[in-house]
Amino acid sequence: MTAFSSILDTLKSASEVHLQDLVEWLRIPSISSDSQRSGDVRAAADWVMQKFTAAGLEVELIPTDRHPFVYAETEAVPGAPVVMVYGHYDVQPVEPLDEWISGPFDPTIRDGNLYARGATDDKGQVLTHIQSVCGWLSTQNPLPLQIKFLIEGEEEVGSESLEERLPALKERLACDCVVISDSSQYADGQPAITYGLRGIATYELSLRGPSQDLHSGSFGGAVMITAVAICLVLS
Ligand SMILES: [Zn+2]
Repeated sequence: MTAFSSILDTLKSASEVHLQDLVEWLRIPSISSDSQRSGDVRAAADWVMQKFTAAGLEVELIPTDRHPFVYAETEAVPGAPVVMVYGHYDVQPVEPLDEWISGPFDPTIRDGNLYARGATDDKGQVLTHIQSVCGWLSTQNPLPLQIKFLIEGEEEVGSESLEERLPALKERLACDCVVISDSSQYADGQPAITYGLRGIATYELSLRGPSQDLHSGSFGGAVMITAVAICLVLS
């Protein structure tokens, strides 16, 4: 049996345990935008830390002014690439509550899908990476490259701490590529590679025009209407 098929067999045979792990993590209401939930957000960080620790990875909780990063890494492999897996353990708010068929923190399977806040954003994906690496290591096969994990707790509130701390963590987080699975899979059994995202750009635009009314008969055509100028700028 090749190393790879033994790794896949190990993962397959543990799938029910892995599902229960995810359910346990999903029960933690780690809503980063709600200050009343900061204890739960921290509990979600501790939960993922403990997963890494149990698998024998080097783990560190990196504090920030708000919610900490969970950082973990496998052993360095000289000459091989370093891959970083980025993800987040915080979740979106859950209101309006009466639109949920089952409770947001009461993970429930319906029609083969698991429903809970964070199931696909981003706890399910993060745990898939963690279980894959842990499953691989549990077969005593060495990883062909080094994997670093950076799991943050403020993705849903703008990742301010990440932006602040990145320069100081530059060396520790150095890698050849970053894998982000905070994205979608369009159908069962149809994985997708997202290679471009639009992101968000927000701004306030002010345009100042004449300080007094200008008579259209005298100035029309010679002076541009401010509303038209704004349309031109936007287009
Ligand atoms: Zn996300």
